[in-house]
Amino acid sequence: MDIEEQTNVTNDALSNLLHEDRSFPPSPEFAAQANATAGLYEEAAADRLAFWERQARELLSWDTEWSQVLDWSNPPFAKWFVDGKLNVAYNCVDRHVEAGNGDRVAIHWEGEPGDSRTLTYADLQREVSRAANALTELGVGHGDRVAIYLPMIPEAAISMLACARIGAIHSVVFGGFSAEALRSRIEDAQAKLVITADGGYRRGKPSALKPAVDEAVAKSPSIEKVLVVRRTEQEVDWDESHDVWWHDLVDRQSDQHTPEAHDSEDTLYILYTSGTTGKPKGIKHTSGGYLLQATYTHRNVFDLKPETDVYWCTADVGWVTGHSYIVYGPLANGATQVMYEGTPDFPEPGRWWDIVEKYKVSILYTAPTAIRTFMKQGEEIPGRRDLSSLRVLGSVGEPINPEAWVWYRRVIGGDRTPVVDTWWQTETGAIMISPLPGVTAAKPGSAQTPLPGIVAEVCDEAGDAVPNGHGGYLVLTEPWPSMLRTIWGDDERFIDTYWSRFEGRYFAGDGAKKDDDGDIWLLGRVDDVMNVSGHRISTTEVESALVSHPKVAESAVVGASDETTGQGIVAFVILRASAGDGGADVVQELRNHVAKEIGPIAKPRQIMIVPELPKTRSGKIMRRLLRDVAENRELGDVQTLADPTVMNLISDGLSKGS
Ligand code: ATP
Ligand code: MG
Repeated sequence: MDIEEQTNVTNDALSNLLHEDRSFPPSPEFAAQANATAGLYEEAAADRLAFWERQARELLSWDTEWSQVLDWSNPPFAKWFVDGKLNVAYNCVDRHVEAGNGDRVAIHWEGEPGDSRTLTYADLQREVSRAANALTELGVGHGDRVAIYLPMIPEAAISMLACARIGAIHSVVFGGFSAEALRSRIEDAQAKLVITADGGYRRGKPSALKPAVDEAVAKSPSIEKVLVVRRTEQEVDWDESHDVWWHDLVDRQSDQHTPEAHDSEDTLYILYTSGTTGKPKGIKHTSGGYLLQATYTHRNVFDLKPETDVYWCTADVGWVTGHSYIVYGPLANGATQVMYEGTPDFPEPGRWWDIVEKYKVSILYTAPTAIRTFMKQGEEIPGRRDLSSLRVLGSVGEPINPEAWVWYRRVIGGDRTPVVDTWWQTETGAIMISPLPGVTAAKPGSAQTPLPGIVAEVCDEAGDAVPNGHGGYLVLTEPWPSMLRTIWGDDERFIDTYWSRFEGRYFAGDGAKKDDDGDIWLLGRVDDVMNVSGHRISTTEVESALVSHPKVAESAVVGASDETTGQGIVAFVILRASAGDGGADVVQELRNHVAKEIGPIAKPRQIMIVPELPKTRSGKIMRRLLRDVAENRELGDVQTLADPTVMNLISDGLSKGS
């Protein structure tokens, strides 16, 4: 989001927070065995840099120690672990083999059609070494950019680690993006190589990737070679001048490769934000600090025990969650994890729970959108599977409605597991605000507390911290190890977007509120705040009020311009399967429910019952399209929708008069 587009949020804004007094402290048994204790907060508060330095020593293997923990002499351009040297891939792979854990499973990979592969850490070491040798043979070296456009197959992680190993910079582009999205990212980064596949499986069918690459590469003069993994065996066009099969090139390489140490501040990757709010930004992350915070958060927020846990993050590697919590964090910690290629509901809605049962998954990390979809389908589906292996549940991507949180814990977590609501962004690189599962008494719907080592604040227009019970802007007041270093090729935009709103502090673009205990509640993007008769109301709060009604599975709320009130609240609601069609009076019932939960001012002007909601490919609700519907406008750009037909479903349903 650019500064000019941001709506102002005043001090009394967003103060309608739902009354939520449920609290879930960790069980004494969980707390007794947890990796993180309350002492971490004290240690970090006493000396933040010394705290990070100790973490860096304990969690990572360095070739050369740093001369300075943080160089902040030229803000907002940070350097962490200055002069330190390490190899990120060595930290994620080789050191576990050297420590005698080569036989430990690194990845249980599950293909959508039901095929599977198991890679131990020793296997991964051989595969990453071969791929690193192959990249070198293709002329890719330190600092070169490599675009990775792959489905969720092990080669995605192997390719990223192979780049890291030789100091090349990867730019992973989500496999569901168009040829044009790929082309513009290749151009922005001036990538030399694309790693792709013939295709991947999605809802039971092979879906092609290579044609989009061909189209993008035809218009990308920087590309020298295209390395193609065979996954679906579908027909592909082939250009001998640049196309190379992975199995021809990589498989014949030596499985030995000596990792070189790279500078702590060498660029590890570029990742373009999803573009929910404008032209995608190439977020640049570097090596030492990034790997440290990904590793530290993965170990402490999920309470990972690498010897016994089976961890599963359901994100795609094309998102930052896949980077930090499928590839770098878990592998640096020596975790055993599940990686799944396909959709949650293929061949039937219980697929995820079959995977949890099959691999005895103990830690699950997913998004509110998935949880709400499962709520809609009903609890019988997970109820038929054995989910007793689960012991920690995580959520990321959007604010989680308290009712979805409670459902997640009760139905998926058997009323036993801590739930961690983790707030962070592509830009932050790793989790920033989250409960610690063995320490925090969790409040459904709140991310609560900055992690030890992180300093965040909610402030008003003038930049002053708001008192408890008030809302405002979320800012990060001190630099953190995994912070973005800049926007690729655009330092000016980096400064303007993040560091200009509040001098010397990072502005995240999200609204938040501090409750009476000082816990932080995320209230969505600042530009999603509505103004109703001069009252500022957050879409998140009205959505959570709707989801707290037993007939509602999911909702999206927008402010539509209104002659009398400035903006009127328009809600789109998906009913739970168990609610049937909801009955004739459901709309009135829901309007009254919101009035009761928040106050009459928040009562929606209009409620539309819909079968689906428009979401981005990372599962976030696209409110801007719903605003178009609510204001009877022609729809804006639907390109980044996960399912472009959703908008037809919505307007068809509405014209039938529901
Ligand atoms: P763009 O910046 O291009 O619009 P994006 O913001 O959707 O894309 P991400 O970096 O993946 O891309 O998303 C980060 C945003 O997701 C946060 O700024 C916040 O709005 C939201 N978010 C993530 N986790 C949480 C959470 N636990 N609670 C509330 N909001 C969250
Ligand atoms: Mg963003």
